[in-house]
This record gives sequence, C-alpha cells and structure tokens, in this order.
Amino acid sequence: MRPGTNAGGAGCVSMISFIGAGPGDPELLTIKGKKLIDSADVVIYAGSLVNPAVLAGCKESAKIYNSALMDLDEVIEVMKDAEASGKKCVRVHTGDPAIYGAHREQMDRLDELGIKYEVIPGVSSFLATAAVLNKEYTLPGKSQTVILTRMEGRTPMPEREKLADLAKHHASMIIFLSIGFMDEMVAQLTEGGYEKETPVAVVYKATWPDQKIVRGTLSDIAAKVKEAGIKKTALTVVGDFLGDDHDLSKLYDKHFTTEFRKAKE
Ligand code: SAH
Repeated sequence: MRPGTNAGGAGCVSMISFIGAGPGDPELLTIKGKKLIDSADVVIYAGSLVNPAVLAGCKESAKIYNSALMDLDEVIEVMKDAEASGKKCVRVHTGDPAIYGAHREQMDRLDELGIKYEVIPGVSSFLATAAVLNKEYTLPGKSQTVILTRMEGRTPMPEREKLADLAKHHASMIIFLSIGFMDEMVAQLTEGGYEKETPVAVVYKATWPDQKIVRGTLSDIAAKVKEAGIKKTALTVVGDFLGDDHDLSKLYDKHFTTEFRKAKE
C-alpha cells in the first residue's frame, strides 16, 4: 500500500459522513469529500449556503434533501432511514462544519441511536476570505491571535463573549453571521478599544462567481457595506493585519536558526 493511502473505513456505507463543502467554489472541496458526495445514495445539504455546484457529480439516483427546509428531527429521520436500508448518506455543510455548523447536535443524536459517523473537514469561509484578500491573519508584530465570533442577534451570545470585550485584545477578528448589524458592530468594536482608523474588510460570498470585497476603516465601513447592498453571506474581518506595516517572520529570517536551517552570518 502506498504511504498515505487510507485503508480504514472512511466513507463506508453504514456510516453517515459529515462533509465540509468549502466556501463556494466547488473546486475547494476536498478530494475525500467529493468522492463521498459523488457516491452517496442520500444527500442532505445546507441549501441556504452550500453552492449547488458542489453536488454536480451526485448519482442520478441520489435522493437530495435541502436541510434549510427541515428541522433537526427530520434530518435525523432521513439519516436513520438511510442507515437502516444500507444506503450511503452524506450531510453536506458549508465551509467547515465545526464553525457555526450545528453538526454537534446531529452527532449527539446519532450517538444516542448508535449510528456511526465521520467528519470530513472543509475550507472554512474565514480561510477563503484571507485567501481572496491576499492577507495573513497572524502577522508578526501585529497579531498572533485570531478570534472567530459573531454578534448577538436573534440568538444570544454567552455573557463573557461580548464583542466589545473580545475587541480589547486587538487580535485579528473575524465576525460571522452579523452583516445585518454593521452599525452596532462598529460601535462595539470601537467601545472595545479599536481605533477609528483600524482597517476592516467585508467579503461577500468569498470564492463564488458573484464575490464582492469592500475595504474601509471602522469609521466608514458600515456606509460602504450599505452602499454595496450586502445583506447576507458575508464576513467582516477587522485588525491591523489588513495594513501593510508589520515585522518579518523569524521562520525565514536568515539570521535565525531553526530546526532545519542554520543562521547565516
Ligand atoms: N461553517 C461555515 C460558516 C457557517 S455560518 C464556514 O466554515 O464558513 C454562515 C456564515 O458564514 C454566513 O452568515 C457568513 O457570515 C459566513 N459565510 C459562509 N460562507 C461564506 C462565504 N463564501 N463568504 C463570506 N462569508 C461566508
């Protein structure tokens, strides 16, 4: 067997496979995820966000469900039936399921039912966003910490995770699910201590054909986003990592010795 070949049970029929579909571009799906989707008998996908192009290779006979129209019980029922009749079932989430994917509650229910599952990770939209901006979140001398969060909206935030408190760290911040609250977001980030000139970018549908990028600062981003007509499926990224002023890394510093390379005089 060649090194790296997975001889394990990944993708076996009796197992439900949770798959990260990536941010939009169907070529940003993992090879493993694509193989599983293309061979599945039953597909449950998050229709509000997953690009249908990700499902282009599905079998003609595959039964496809849009989970945007289903509740948790209905999703589990479809998985249960598929498993009981020996059909391969895949559950396709946008980006990576571990970020606001709500797949934990599904896994818990499958545990209770004794149904096996696996998770195939995907490219989260926050990583696609850095890619389309040509930026690195962890910039030497600027920020070495990344905070993924969201605003309090229809669903509450834990008391200790208010945006203004998180903003105090001046880390690189990525704010999900909150594009409808731009004015409030800016107010809380400013209250937390970000200067008005802090750079901000909003990326709408990163890697989709209709992707849009809006760049600004905390003082003008809310107006620019309104002007661009962006109302959903967007991430807001905030921090000095968006600027051009930073130190060079030690990793590639010729005067710095690493495990693999000696420093040059
Ligand atoms: N699991 C997903 C996130 C699901 S929550 C992931 O890993 O990306 C849904 C939110 O993610 C959206 O409201 C938006 O804030 C963000 N999002 C998802 N796909 C996006 C994309 N292609 N571009 C920008 N933001 C995206």
